[in-house]
Amino acid sequence: MKVIEKYNDSLHNPYWKYQLGPESYEVKDTPLRVESIKKALRSDERFEFITAKQFPERLISRIHPYHDYILKTGLSLKNDEEEFYPDLFPGEGANLLKKNDSPLWGGIWCTDAVTPIKKKTYEVARASAETALTGAELLREGQEKTVYALCRPSGHHAGPRVYGGYCYFNNAATAAEYLLPAGKVAVVDIDYHHGNGTQEFFDEIKSVFTASIHCDPSNEYPYFWGYTDEKGKGQAAGTNHNEPLPKNTQLEQYAGAVDRILDKIRAFKPAYLIISAGFDTHISDPIGGFKLRTEDYISIGKQFKSLNLPTLVCQEGGYNIDFLGDCVKNFLIGLM
Ligand SMILES: [Zn+2]
Repeated sequence: MKVIEKYNDSLHNPYWKYQLGPESYEVKDTPLRVESIKKALRSDERFEFITAKQFPERLISRIHPYHDYILKTGLSLKNDEEEFYPDLFPGEGANLLKKNDSPLWGGIWCTDAVTPIKKKTYEVARASAETALTGAELLREGQEKTVYALCRPSGHHAGPRVYGGYCYFNNAATAAEYLLPAGKVAVVDIDYHHGNGTQEFFDEIKSVFTASIHCDPSNEYPYFWGYTDEKGKGQAAGTNHNEPLPKNTQLEQYAGAVDRILDKIRAFKPAYLIISAGFDTHISDPIGGFKLRTEDYISIGKQFKSLNLPTLVCQEGGYNIDFLGDCVKNFLIGLM
């Protein structure tokens, strides 16, 4: 299986610590996550590493209206350590006609104040999207059946209006847009957190089926999306399916949710499958609350393999670097 990778800059390393009731959490999107995955995959000769290609900027900018804002804000920073966070978020009814290009207006492009823009952020986010695009191209040209895009930063919380949740450009959505002229696409998100950005991208597009299996958002990020009554809008009604599961979910319950989604994908008959694969569902993940074990990802991968579709896997979350690489490897082995 081809493993696509690109730029992995240690200068883009968001870190967020927060306290919720008695519990404290740390989220580190460190380059060591990529190293953990590379180490596991390099130990197995079934994986072949290739470097992502460069693609025209417009493939990313045309679907991310905050593209120029992220680029220019990064360029305006004085050094590699500086971080920029918007701290003003206009609510409903704000007069957005008066906005200008100043970073101070950045709150209109972002859902939160924990997703920093650094000098290198645009570069790594673009490389991450190009990693997914390279995988999509291999599928579209019929060169590969299953490919893995080692994306960092993740993309699934970045939407068609705003970025956030450590995500800047939506890698899976960028790949889906690229594949769409060649046939219908199904995007399934298996990260612990609901793929709100991806869902919003295709909420009104009936040629893309989206689904997500995640922790019940009534008590987990992203809180405002991911419920069962979100089924797609207008002509795309019925093309989104959410499977919120309780904390402490183990394999049996998880596999049932996967099966329900696979049935819907078979009925939709897509030409391509994209899996937004996060491994913060692992029992030892520092921010996740599910109880999947390292070996469970083999059988989950096998479930998706049963669809027999050209498949692109895009890396999303997963924060325990002692296990992340083996979880990814097992999932991909299941898909082979
Ligand atoms: Zn996640």
